[in-house]
Amino acid sequence: MMDGSDTPRNAANLVLLGPPGAGKGTQARMLEEQFGLVQLSTGDLLRAAVAAGTEAGRAAKAVMEAGDLVSDEIVIAILRDRLAEPDCAKGVILDGFPRTTVQAEALDGLLAEIGQGIRAAISLEVDDAAMVTRISGRYTCGGCGEGYHDTFKVPSKPGACDKCGGTEMKRRADDNAETVEQRLRAYHAQTAPLISYYESRGVLARVDAMAEIEAVARELNAIVAKAVA
Ligand SMILES: [Zn+2]
Repeated sequence: MMDGSDTPRNAANLVLLGPPGAGKGTQARMLEEQFGLVQLSTGDLLRAAVAAGTEAGRAAKAVMEAGDLVSDEIVIAILRDRLAEPDCAKGVILDGFPRTTVQAEALDGLLAEIGQGIRAAISLEVDDAAMVTRISGRYTCGGCGEGYHDTFKVPSKPGACDKCGGTEMKRRADDNAETVEQRLRAYHAQTAPLISYYESRGVLARVDAMAEIEAVARELNAIVAKAVA
């Protein structure tokens, strides 16, 4: 066990919230580069801990092999180990954890133990109707993989790829309007309590994720620059 004496006290830890399609991955990579933060997604964390064979990793492996969900306690233990690693000194961007207020409280408890906290919880806000149009309209050329969109990027010759002339277009089955609407509803239902939680603690920042990628990046930069300072 580590005693926490060598953990950095000035780490700027962030929580990034946003539905699928809001550009979370792109923006998180930008923040990693800009501020030296490390993005930690729950899936990656678990896989790495299992591969490393740490105590918590072995516990997670046993639970997963039994077909059960890994408990909050195990995820927190894995996170505790991970935060002690030198690359997390400047702070982390948490993605996919916490998902519930119970997890958010457990996370705050862990961070308090090591003299840290959540500096900002950033919510990438989307317009649901526009997201449905954006996601359900996209398709790709089966020949070369070029991306198209019913509204925003139509091939110059209908039904034929501009790049390779191919006529076989592919749509992801889960990109249809109904599925996208369901995903968004589930996201809002799950995230609303977390948004209130962080708002009540004065660390919530809302960003309009429907703007151009560069505009979103600028806004995020300003928020994180303040959180890091
Ligand atoms: Zn093509």
